[in-house]
Amino acid sequence: MIREPRLDRRGFAKLAFGSLASLWAAPGCGSGLEYTEADRAALDRQRRDETERAGKGPLGRLRYSGYRGLAELPYFELAPDRTLRLAIDIPPAIDLHTHFGIALLLAPAIDLAARTARTQYYLDCDREDPGCDFDLDVYQNANFSDAALAELTAQMRDQLLPWGGSAARTHTLANLLAELDAMRFQSAAVLGMAIGLPFGDHLTEQWMDAIERSPAADRFVPFASVHPRDAGWRAKLAAFAARGARGVKLHPEMMRFAPDDPEAMQIYAECERLGLPVIFHGGRSGIEPESIRPYALIRHYVPAITAYPRVQFLLGHAGARDVDDALAAAQQYPNVWLEIACQGATQLAGLMSAVGAERLLFGSDWPFYPLAATLAKVLLVTEGKPEARAAILGGNAERMFATAAATRSAT
Ligand SMILES: [Zn+2]
Repeated sequence: MIREPRLDRRGFAKLAFGSLASLWAAPGCGSGLEYTEADRAALDRQRRDETERAGKGPLGRLRYSGYRGLAELPYFELAPDRTLRLAIDIPPAIDLHTHFGIALLLAPAIDLAARTARTQYYLDCDREDPGCDFDLDVYQNANFSDAALAELTAQMRDQLLPWGGSAARTHTLANLLAELDAMRFQSAAVLGMAIGLPFGDHLTEQWMDAIERSPAADRFVPFASVHPRDAGWRAKLAAFAARGARGVKLHPEMMRFAPDDPEAMQIYAECERLGLPVIFHGGRSGIEPESIRPYALIRHYVPAITAYPRVQFLLGHAGARDVDDALAAAQQYPNVWLEIACQGATQLAGLMSAVGAERLLFGSDWPFYPLAATLAKVLLVTEGKPEARAAILGGNAERMFATAAATRSAT
């Protein structure tokens, strides 16, 4: 007689640990890519400079009590349930960087149609009332304590395990839709992620299913993800495109591949044929383990950008803390767009003057953060510049999709 293996919570946690490594929380083996002292120093310098400059830019001090505190700005007000809502009219707007709830490996499916009392952001400045000290003039994750970052790691782990992530259960289509309405946004791109797990790795499928089932399907723009080391990626990508995916999302750190891997280069060729833009997580956020940072160095994105000049490449987070390198790439290559989630207000104003508002795309990285966090910064830096505001919020995205679609080959 075969004995059933008995797995308690600790047993499951151990079982999942290997796969977990690819989800960022655990230190893994090295990437095999070079990571130099100069790379380390650049990240340290970015943090130091940012801390020093915060609140000393043209907009002055930009500190609020939690996300709710943004209601102090003339753009927002608190609804009776104490959630933020927009109080002004904005041009047609699309959020190019959102995700739904993550349930991978052993985690139970999430009811993405469910509306919950509140959205528990991964990095949640409103958890207490009054909320945490929130500074719009630093890279967004700099606002969070070690305890908050440890809670994020725990959430990432739970999303793989049989009990699932408690925050992820609030990252529903219905909750994002309510936030789009409150912020007067027309739509959001929902970016899938193929992590490369042995099973239970179907976020794109789950999220496209949820969108197709929703009466508000027209408010969501699905981006598919495939893993370059999945032998079946080509067929999967073709199927996602046939189902209506409008772009491809790749996260080199979480998926553990270098953007200039030969297998990954094949994906860009396919994106050109299908007329799909590619959005990368780009650059180092500074809160991931050092072992996966080499994948995100902007120098590994450049071969893709130059080999496929007709593919539109969006650098997520405008290169995060490697923003200077991402900006240089955007200045040099016309097929690069900067998606601005998380960048501080002064940095954002700097990007606008260095590369032009017409190369920037609005992204919030919901449910890491509320839409209002990025929106506040865009509204502040485009005060008195209606054309720049319209471009960043929606006009550029429209142009970007049209440019990408032009390469679609008739087959
Ligand atoms: Zn994201």
